[in-house]
Amino acid sequence: MDSTAMRAWARIDLAALRANVEALRARAPGAGLMAVVKSDAYGHGMVPCARAAIEAGATWLGTATPQEALELRAAGVGARALCWLWTPGGPWREAIEADIDVSVSGMWALREVVAAARAAGRHARVHLKADTGLGRNGAQPADWPELVAAARAAEAEGALQVTGLWSHFACADEPGHPSIAAQLASYREALAHAERAGLRPEVRHMANSPATLTLPESHFDLVRTGVAMYGISPVPQLGAPADFGLRPVMTLGARIALVKAVPGGHGISYGHKYTTPGATTLALVPVGYADGIPRHASGTGPVLVAGKWRTVAGRVAMDQFVVDLGGDSAEVGDEALLFGPGDRGEPTAEDWALAADTISYEIITRIGTRVPRVYV
Ligand code: PLP
Repeated sequence: MDSTAMRAWARIDLAALRANVEALRARAPGAGLMAVVKSDAYGHGMVPCARAAIEAGATWLGTATPQEALELRAAGVGARALCWLWTPGGPWREAIEADIDVSVSGMWALREVVAAARAAGRHARVHLKADTGLGRNGAQPADWPELVAAARAAEAEGALQVTGLWSHFACADEPGHPSIAAQLASYREALAHAERAGLRPEVRHMANSPATLTLPESHFDLVRTGVAMYGISPVPQLGAPADFGLRPVMTLGARIALVKAVPGGHGISYGHKYTTPGATTLALVPVGYADGIPRHASGTGPVLVAGKWRTVAGRVAMDQFVVDLGGDSAEVGDEALLFGPGDRGEPTAEDWALAADTISYEIITRIGTRVPRVYV
C-alpha cells in the first residue's frame, strides 16, 4: 500500500522484527524463544508478526486469550502456542482441539480444562503457573502442592499432559530489585516440588524481555519476549534499543492535512490550553486519541514536521492535533513522523512514553485499528 494516499499509517518493518528475534535468541542461547504476539502483536499485527518471528527461529507463540491463539490457527499458523489469560468458559475445548497449550493457575481452572479435554476426547496440554510474587494469576506457594497433585492425577488418567511449569516477574525491568531473587528462589522451589511429584514438563519458563536481556539465570528452557522483539528497550534506564542490538519495528506517520497562518493570541484546540505567542503558521496532524495518540501528551508529545521536532500545541482531540510551526512552513501532504527508530530524526516511542507519562509498551500497543499497518 502506498502511504502517500493515506491519512496516517503504521509502517511495520518485519525485517527488523526478524533481526530482533535473532538478537534475542543470541542473548538466550540455551533456551527456545516464545514470541509474545498477544494484543495484536502489541499493535503490530498478530499474524504477520507471528509468521516473521517463526521464520527467524521463534519456537513458540504466546497469547493472552484463547481467542487470539485460535485466530493464529484460523490463519494457518501451526506453531506451538500457549495462551495464559484464564477466561471462565474458555473456549477451552476448541483450544484443545486446535493443539493450543493452556495455562492453569488453580483448581477451578484445572477442573474446567479436564472437562473440556474429556468432551474433546483428547488430552489437554497444560502449563501450570506458579505465583512466585507477582500477585496476579498463578497458584500461591501454599496451593501449589494440591494443584500439582491434581494435575499429576489427571495426567495418569490421560486427561492432560503438563507440558510447562512457569511464572512471571513483577520487577524484571528494575534490575537488582530484591523481588527478582526472591521470585527466582520461589520458582525453583515450585519446580523442585513438581518434579518430586513426578511431573516432567517439556518447558520451564519465566523470563520476559527485561529478564531475557539482563538475567541469564532466569532463561530456563524458554524465554517469552514481547516488547524487545518489537524493538523497544524494556530497560530504557540501561540503554536504548540499539544498545541491545534491537531496532524499533513500528514507525507511525501521518500526512499534514491543513496549513494556515494565524495571528498571535489565537487559542488552539479544545479548552484553549495553548495560545499562539505571535503571528505564526499552524499545521494540522490528522491523528488523535481515537488512533491511540495519548491525550495525556497534549502540550508535550513530539512530532517531526518539516525537519524539526514540534510539540503538540494544546489538546490532542479525537481525530487530530495541531503543531505550531513558528516561522517555518510546511505543505499539505507533507509527512509528519510521530515515532519510529529515530534514524530520520523522528522521535521514538520512548520519547512519547516520557511525554505521556507512561511506558513505551502502551504507546505502541494502543495504536488503533483505524491506522492501516503497512508491512515492509
Ligand atoms: N509473559 C507474560 C505472561 C506476559 O504477560 C508478557 C507481557 O506482558 C510477556 C511475557 C512479555 O513481556 P515483555 O513484553 O516485557 O517481553
